[in-house]
Amino acid sequence: MLYIGCHLSASKGYADMGRQAEKIGANTFAFLTRNPRGSSAKAINPADVEKFLQNSKSFGKLVAHAPYTLNPCASDEKIRDFARFAMADDLKRMEYIPNNYYNFHPGSHVKQGNEKGIELIAEILNDVLTPEQSTIVLLETMSGKGSEVGKSFEELRAIIDRVNLKNKIGVCLDTCHIWDGGYDIVNNPDGVFEEFDKIIGLERLKAIHLNDSLNPCGSHKDRHAKIGEGHIGADALVRFINRSEVKGLPVILETPNDLDGYAREIKFLRENYND
Ligand code: FE
Ligand code: FE
Ligand code: ZN
Repeated sequence: MLYIGCHLSASKGYADMGRQAEKIGANTFAFLTRNPRGSSAKAINPADVEKFLQNSKSFGKLVAHAPYTLNPCASDEKIRDFARFAMADDLKRMEYIPNNYYNFHPGSHVKQGNEKGIELIAEILNDVLTPEQSTIVLLETMSGKGSEVGKSFEELRAIIDRVNLKNKIGVCLDTCHIWDGGYDIVNNPDGVFEEFDKIIGLERLKAIHLNDSLNPCGSHKDRHAKIGEGHIGADALVRFINRSEVKGLPVILETPNDLDGYAREIKFLRENYND
């Protein structure tokens, strides 16, 4: 079963996202847990959540996304405090839709160095994760633009090693980001997955962000392209979603598209998926 979707606007609530998803042939989706500026979160309406849960029983796991502006490894303590507050609050809110995923960008260490960045990220995870939560928190693989932490499997592993509640942690693999980070999923996908397994462990791979890339492998740029309009190409991305390591995982498109464009990409990928 291919669970595929894209980012949807959460402004009208969960039931509305469920309807949007169905309209474009999606059976999972991503959404920002609070407004893109990162501050306010919309109040949860239990009736809306109930309606969504009733109508989305055939959906795969959802992949909520923390605001892009959070930086859990900022040097400024106030910025870290906000990341800690927002993540803890988001995780409480995620329990309204239990057993889904909450993905975040590990952050940018700015001039503190990778080591320090890794320490700070783990510190916040250890503050916000609770044994009771049903949500798995996903570290997203990053492209290594600027001082981003999480551009290599080793860096993600180093974060996970420092987390106490390891059973609450997984990884979301972004195809544009790992390609830009230097992992050649076009010519050597077997090698990339072998390395992922050796360093992180395939059991931690929980979700996919499926994107083409405007730039060549190793460029550290992070510019997403539509499926088939970048350097990865449609063939490699089709082979990617058909891999045994990926089958069953929610696949989220983050390609530059409107909803019609997403509907077309979803249709194309479904047509090229072997159940
Ligand atoms: Fe992301
Ligand atoms: Fe992504
Ligand atoms: Zn990106």
